[in-house]
Amino acid sequence: MEPARITIFDTTLRDGEQSPGCSMNVPEKLRMAHQLDRLGVDVIEAGFPIASEGDFAAVQAIAAVIRRPIIAGLARACRPDIERAWQALKDASRPRIHVFLATSDIHLKYKLRISRQQCLEQARDASRLAKSLCQDVEFSPEDATRTDLEFLLQIVQAVVEAGATTVNIPDTVGYSMPAEFGELIQTIRQRVPGMEKVTISAHCHNDLGLAVANSLAAVAAGARQVECTINGIGERAGNASLEEIVMAARVRPDRYAYKTEVVSEQLFPASQMLSEITGVPVQPNKAIIGRNAFAHEAGIHQDGMLKNPLTYEIMTPHSVGVPDSTLVLGKHSGRHALNLRCEQLGYQFERRELDEIYRNFVVLADKIKHVEDHHLLELIRETHAGRRIPPTPVADLPLAIAAAAGSGREYPQKPLSFPLPAEFSPSGLPVNPMAEHHSEQEDYLWGV
Ligand SMILES: [Zn+2]
Repeated sequence: MEPARITIFDTTLRDGEQSPGCSMNVPEKLRMAHQLDRLGVDVIEAGFPIASEGDFAAVQAIAAVIRRPIIAGLARACRPDIERAWQALKDASRPRIHVFLATSDIHLKYKLRISRQQCLEQARDASRLAKSLCQDVEFSPEDATRTDLEFLLQIVQAVVEAGATTVNIPDTVGYSMPAEFGELIQTIRQRVPGMEKVTISAHCHNDLGLAVANSLAAVAAGARQVECTINGIGERAGNASLEEIVMAARVRPDRYAYKTEVVSEQLFPASQMLSEITGVPVQPNKAIIGRNAFAHEAGIHQDGMLKNPLTYEIMTPHSVGVPDSTLVLGKHSGRHALNLRCEQLGYQFERRELDEIYRNFVVLADKIKHVEDHHLLELIRETHAGRRIPPTPVADLPLAIAAAAGSGREYPQKPLSFPLPAEFSPSGLPVNPMAEHHSEQEDYLWGV
């Protein structure tokens, strides 16, 4: 039987970007969007256009140049949000308006202060308005997993009748258990008329570490879209991790007969790029793309690995884009080798940027002989940090929007993500006095 096709909805640039320390400015979001395109995701949620001018500009810029995937913009269930989202999206080759409204009693009572009846009408009206602007409409009943089931079914039916083409079920607070979440998806499929024409989606948060398990349970129960982020970034404990969902299906087709169009070799480059842009490191033991995910230290493991990698590896590093480490970079390595290594790690540099990295690389290689990937990544971050444009802050928003958009964004000092040898202090690297004043002559000197 043909494996079922799962739509990968990436929300790194929206839900992920909302989390503390993960803010990105427009050029950074655009750079990341290009990588998500290379990665082969189906939908890029590019932002929340009404939340800030920066978010609006990012969605518009991404919609203008990223033409293959669907580009989604988030909107609360009200006219100004939906119209603003459409303004940002209207030039996309495949636009999607994503409308959300909380449906749980606790949110209705304390956050929105509306009745269930008002909620139902607002959800229906907002979906109709979105549909009048855009064929592709997604609706999310926020906090669905803590919503009264019968009411949730009414809401889903109302938005489907109003023209929603995807119904996303968010476990907004990461409260659900896998079997329970699967049952919920199945119940919605079975009990809401017309669901066979609509895509059901899962959006899981990781507060109990179950976001990926819940997403896979949803897929097993009939969901055909999953919402996820690179490195699992997102509000609080994060969203379901894209790389884990993709590789679970790829490594275990016997249990999960689903396929995605994700180019798995682009996972590690995407992870590295995000970490470099945000300055938020990936935990070393993070599944799939963590620094230690393919490291084998125990003697018995190393022995097995040397005899046959399959003894301890269920997938190859190459399959997720982790470059092989046989290429040793030292002070005699040329710019070409350095550039190649940077590309393998997910970085493409302009000539002048590479010049700057190369200069710092030579200084470092003189000190520590073998420059390993983690040294190089640190060096790239340091070099970039000096040039980084500060992210667009969330400016003077009404309280509700600021809350939804993740107010209290912080811009912490970038932490060092890798242990470095004692003799190497990245901040101690000599800064080229001419770094800000590239001349043709200098370019020539370094260009050979
Ligand atoms: Zn979320």
